[in-house]
Amino acid sequence: MSDNKSNKGQLQQLMSAGLLNCVFQPISDLQAGVVFAHEALIRGPKDTNFHNPDKLFKLAEEEGLILEFELHCLHQALSQWGQFPEPGRLFVNLSANALLQASSIHGSASLVNLIRSYGVLPRMLILEITEHERTSDMDRFRKEAHYLNSEGISLALDDFGDGRSSLKLWSEIKPAFVKIDKYFTKELGNRTENLQMVHALKCIAEVFGTQLVAEGIESGSDLRILRDLQLAYGQGYLLGYPTSVPARTITAESAKILKDKQIAVLPHLQQNARPNILRGLKVIKARAVSPNAPNSEVESLFQACPDLHALAVVEDERPIAMINRDQFMSQYATMYFRELNGRRPCKKFANYSPRLIELNEDVDNLLGILTSEDQRYLIEGFIVTDNGRYVGLGTGEQLVRAVTEARIEAARHANPLTSLPGNIPISLHIQRLLNSGTEFVACYIDLNHFKPFNDQYGYWRGDEMIRLAAQTCLRYCDSCCDFVGHVGGMILSFCFRVLTGNLAANASLMILR
Ligand code: C2E
Ligand code: MG
Ligand code: MG
Repeated sequence: MSDNKSNKGQLQQLMSAGLLNCVFQPISDLQAGVVFAHEALIRGPKDTNFHNPDKLFKLAEEEGLILEFELHCLHQALSQWGQFPEPGRLFVNLSANALLQASSIHGSASLVNLIRSYGVLPRMLILEITEHERTSDMDRFRKEAHYLNSEGISLALDDFGDGRSSLKLWSEIKPAFVKIDKYFTKELGNRTENLQMVHALKCIAEVFGTQLVAEGIESGSDLRILRDLQLAYGQGYLLGYPTSVPARTITAESAKILKDKQIAVLPHLQQNARPNILRGLKVIKARAVSPNAPNSEVESLFQACPDLHALAVVEDERPIAMINRDQFMSQYATMYFRELNGRRPCKKFANYSPRLIELNEDVDNLLGILTSEDQRYLIEGFIVTDNGRYVGLGTGEQLVRAVTEARIEAARHANPLTSLPGNIPISLHIQRLLNSGTEFVACYIDLNHFKPFNDQYGYWRGDEMIRLAAQTCLRYCDSCCDFVGHVGGMILSFCFRVLTGNLAANASLMILR
């Protein structure tokens, strides 16, 4: 068929002439390393513009034949599948709307009869539902899904996470499978967000009793990580390309990876998304005054609460100023101050540029307060807010304590000096190595005479030396199988790194101090 011809009626012609065929891509069991099922994917004639399904869908839209085209693909997949000896499980794509329209035109039982007419067992068929968000009639869809399940047909949600998928649909129809969109299964070793997303989906899948299929697996390191995350199934070019005769085995390369015992090096999975967030900041829940409150009221409050170092001036719940106790009381004690200013508004004696600290402020933003030459905020304290609203007061001493604790906690995940994984990820990795039963080598690197080095050249040079040692370690390690960590923290001022890896990769555990 010529590509230059007008598009009108072309899809119709392709369908009538039987020029559309399905190819079948293996879906692998990632734990057993065998083919679990195949997905049917439609193809137009080779060497034409219409080989690719996206082009076919575009034609279908132009010709107003979406439903006919989808049903044609379904017939084609079933008819080809029914002709294979011992065909196994088949995943076929169908949009939710096509499913509903077909059942309203032909009746719910028609799909089940159709499947049987091609010699395919309903329990071997999984319908991959696409374009879920366009399901206008959720109630009918839920009933249809229930009916199909009762006939032995399973459902899968396709391309989950691509922006057209819905968690609501997942929770309502509880499909047997959810296929994770390839966007989230890529570069898992480098993109912590993707790893965390897959991990989160796995938790949801456990709650709903759903099996996950990772789509688009192209690299060995992603495959190893997905296997280690205990994902049930995977699909992608690495495991097998779509072919006209379904492959009975996965590729040798992927089988080798799934079989070996080498564990994947994961980015810091357990690390809090914002480890530097200030937590546990002790807040003094002190009363605040309005800008027009008289000075006599401020004085009474300070008299009644001898421990209060300051008072916040608050207007519409928002702090606008702060009155320092020592400064205020020493002025109040001067001669005739009470008589002259006692009834006047307190705003005259307030500091209108107090330091405000949000409850979930990033510790890095606060380091300036601690390190600045101007120690005013440390001495005078600060006002604590939640979304800009007054919560209470804080002292410099409490701030130092909270920042220190936040830094220590963050250092347990990643060392602030080298950014290498800290104690928690190191322990998790060692635990995974032990659980896997694989042989591994641990290597410990220790910088000798480091204290005299620091004394002689200063801490700045000492830090440089530690960073250099970390970079050297990383340069000579293989990031796919060697884990390099850094034990201890800057605050404790002792630091050493751990490197663990697979014996075959000649890696070892190292600690530097
Ligand atoms: P899909 O259902 O998500 O199918 C997976 C797509 O990802 C396929 O593209 C497949 O060839 C491709 N793929 C598989 N492994 C990899 C990989 O490792 N890397 C990359 N980059 N891609 C990979 P294809 O065949 O072009 O199909 C595109 C979409 O067209 C399908 O996405 C599906 O939504 C639709 N489609 C294909 N065949 C049918 C069909 O028979 N019926 C219906 N209703 N839709 C179909
Ligand atoms: Mg699909
Ligand atoms: Mg898909």
